[in-house]
Amino acid sequence: MDLTLLPPGIQTRLLKLGISRPFDLVLHLPSRYEDETQLYPLADAPIGTPVLVEGEVQSAETTFRPKKQFVARISDGTGTLVVRLINFYPNQVKQLAVGKRVRLYGEIRHGFWGDEMVHPKVKNVGESNGLNEALTPVYPTVAGLAQAPLTKLIAKALTSCHLSDTLPTALIHDLGLPAFADSVRFLHHPTPDVARVQLTERLHPTWRRVKFDELLAQQLSLRMARAVRRERSAPKIAPPGRLAAQLVASLPFGLTKAQNRVLLEIAKDLKQPHPMQRLLQGDVGAGKTIVAAIAACHAIEAGYQVALLAPTEILAEQHYRKLSQWLTPLGIKVVWLTGSLKAKEKRAALEDAALGTASLVCGTHAIFQSSVEFKRLGLAVVDEQHRFGVAQRLALREKGGSPHQLMMSATPIPRTLAMSFYADLDVSVIDELPPGRTPIVTKLISDARRDEITERIAAKVGEGRQVYWVCPLIEESEALQLQTAVDTHAQLSEELEGIKVGLLHGRMKPDEKAAIMQAFIANEIQLLVATTVIEVGVDVPNASLMVIEHAERMGLAQLHQLRGRVGRGAHASLCILLYSGPLGDTAKERLKVIYENTDGFVIANEDLRIRGPGELAGVRQSGVPMLRFADLEADADLLEAAREAAGQLLSQDRTIAEAHLQRWLPGREALLKV
Ligand code: ADP
Ligand code: MG
Repeated sequence: MDLTLLPPGIQTRLLKLGISRPFDLVLHLPSRYEDETQLYPLADAPIGTPVLVEGEVQSAETTFRPKKQFVARISDGTGTLVVRLINFYPNQVKQLAVGKRVRLYGEIRHGFWGDEMVHPKVKNVGESNGLNEALTPVYPTVAGLAQAPLTKLIAKALTSCHLSDTLPTALIHDLGLPAFADSVRFLHHPTPDVARVQLTERLHPTWRRVKFDELLAQQLSLRMARAVRRERSAPKIAPPGRLAAQLVASLPFGLTKAQNRVLLEIAKDLKQPHPMQRLLQGDVGAGKTIVAAIAACHAIEAGYQVALLAPTEILAEQHYRKLSQWLTPLGIKVVWLTGSLKAKEKRAALEDAALGTASLVCGTHAIFQSSVEFKRLGLAVVDEQHRFGVAQRLALREKGGSPHQLMMSATPIPRTLAMSFYADLDVSVIDELPPGRTPIVTKLISDARRDEITERIAAKVGEGRQVYWVCPLIEESEALQLQTAVDTHAQLSEELEGIKVGLLHGRMKPDEKAAIMQAFIANEIQLLVATTVIEVGVDVPNASLMVIEHAERMGLAQLHQLRGRVGRGAHASLCILLYSGPLGDTAKERLKVIYENTDGFVIANEDLRIRGPGELAGVRQSGVPMLRFADLEADADLLEAAREAAGQLLSQDRTIAEAHLQRWLPGREALLKV
């Protein structure tokens, strides 16, 4: 079977479905089934569920009242049924001519003319036509590719592709799963005796087999990527640790137990001759930046340079200030490099990086692009890792051999995700907040009570605190979003006399943004009206009230991140979520989760439950193949089994692993390079 021989139009549509080779057709499993194996007498046919019935057309006419439609009546001796077509073609009228015998598949409902089927599937039959023996598959498809030709192609692929098992019989047997060939054949054409829920809920053993294979492929590819990484060499970084000790001694606070633990894990990785690839996960405010700074000290003391990457200019500048404040007194040269630097400053920074005079370079991904070269890059720290994609991680590697990589993220990873999508990373978790923080109180308030909020703001500012006001996300129009922010700023400035109100949005020039942020940090601005540009990383401990407008439009991870901008100091903090009704079910569910929980881990789990892994921050960008069949939560047992099997296969017989991957993930080269 050769797909390239098909008409180009069909090939394009198949590609849209992710089908580029015959085997992809085998793996294109039905989304549901129609049961045309059982014929119901009209008198007993159940209402409101798809059924197959048969009868002779008694009458047929095109009526024009109340509107043009075709109405036929069939009878099978036990009862009668109306067939109604609202849009119809001449050949359909012919199929339903008086005296014809027809088989109809559809849902019966009570209608104006009696029990009826509207637009059923119609087939002319003779007396002796037998019934289908298998359920009829219904495949996911795209416009321009009908079920019939797709079904035919799949049937052909099922006979022409090798369906032999990639897995050793012993393994399949131990797992109690059916053979691969039997499984896909069954799923394409299941026998009618199977309990329907086993198919629809994907619980049938054949479904489990397919899901296991998919999860196994994912595990194998991640493990192999990891093995490839281990073959590369990175500088062994094992200094005495004097710089780090000096930094710690200069801090106004002591490190938490969790911070110390993850620092040990990182130090151990840095000593290895192959690149670290560690994800440092800690809820917002857990204190990841100081951990990165200490790791940087190790690399610098050993004579290497460090790059620190942030997703936004605001964050890059904030890191630059924080790190200069910590490290400059230790004699370390810190520079920053962002798109907004003046040409001369940029040239100087680039030179510092290339000559090695700068030990730490902070910046946005401008660091990756353009002409940046490092003399001796030993460690790259990527903050808010989920904002970066595979492409950027690849670019980073090209900048300087294989530096050690420390990725930081405030988005907690539920266990099943960690075991699957992140299985190629080592994970360290900061699971405690620095002491002395008072928990953030969250309030849900309807838009209608917006007036009360200005009073609260005035009161907070009266106590010496500062406030964020986050303007709504308007996905359809950036211009509108900007306008809303400008209007809100004007209105609040007017309402809050004597309070300095600042405005921050994505369209401002980087140096304007930086100036506003500086003024806010210095408490020259008390109320900062901002778009979601402040979402990541911003750290102003004196800010203790946050108002989020149209919170119902935001995702859970985003709300959690935004809320994490307050509650960073010792002051009691409040986050007000303004919503405007009526709320949809998902919005309601999200707001309830964020209202009831402050633990980022719980919130991430709920997010995973509500949205599925594909939408969870970072997963799509992670470059790890998406799962089509398996569900991480529901199939956690299979995931566990696949993990174990992957380890076994790779240590015993790589050819099996290769064959399995070839079947499931033929194009996984990009991932292997990261
Ligand atoms: P995040 O993990 O969200 O990036 P940051 O690194 O910005 O958090 O830290 C939040 C705040 O907590 C900063 O002001 C930081 O200096 C402070 N901090 C970090 N570690 C500690 C600690 N062990 N004790 C007290 N404050 C700390
Ligand atoms: Mg941070």
